[in-house]
Amino acid sequence: MSTIADNLSSVSARITAATAAAGRDAASVNLLAVSKTKPAQAVREAHAAGQRHFGENYLQEALAKQAELGDLDLTWHFIGPIQSNKTRPIAEHFDWVHSVDRLKIAERLAEQRPAGKPPLNICLQVNISGEASKAGCAPADLPALAKAVAALPGLRLRGLMAIPQPSTDVAEQNAVFAQVNALRDSLDLDLDTLSMGMSDDLEAAIAQGATWVRIGTALFGARDYSKPEPSA
Ligand SMILES: *Cc1c(COP(=O)(O)O)cnc(C)c1O
Repeated sequence: MSTIADNLSSVSARITAATAAAGRDAASVNLLAVSKTKPAQAVREAHAAGQRHFGENYLQEALAKQAELGDLDLTWHFIGPIQSNKTRPIAEHFDWVHSVDRLKIAERLAEQRPAGKPPLNICLQVNISGEASKAGCAPADLPALAKAVAALPGLRLRGLMAIPQPSTDVAEQNAVFAQVNALRDSLDLDLDTLSMGMSDDLEAAIAQGATWVRIGTALFGARDYSKPEPSA
């Protein structure tokens, strides 16, 4: 069985190859290790192998892991659906939120971001056509949402996040990611971030401009959902 360190090397090599193929600087793509459903020990192993940024979907699970790993220098990203009554701990315990899809959530995060902390980095999740999940802002609503979020104190709007419907067709993967990139460019804002690409489609995402790829399975192995899924 390969170790997390082995997997991290393989994923890094895939990122390097994809950036080279796209004529991009290797440093222009960041790896977010998605540790949802995995124990704190797995995060510790990835950290020992050099990984610093971790993404979590479920708040209670994330807070428990953070408490257990308080001795490590880690940067936490929230990437799951957000209920409005859960915004305060997210504003307090994360540095990035990739999954903001409505103004009410952004307003609460802005209000609840502790004054002593740097602005919370925000990506707006966009629901591009054909997307499996219902989460995400409709492209038509994105310009108004982006403008409003960019104006909020305590937040720094960085860019867009998308979770396309899984496809094994590379041309289709590319087409969807290109749409996300074009949407970002269509917003008249200074946005440096595209959070897109997972274990099975990171190459296409990088070809289309991803700056964060969010990788779970390829780093930590398959997730066990035979146990009940943790609630958000
Ligand atoms: C689980 C998850 C990932 C990681 O997916 P893999 O296919 O396991 O790499 C990435 N982004 C989000 C939002 C997720 O929920």
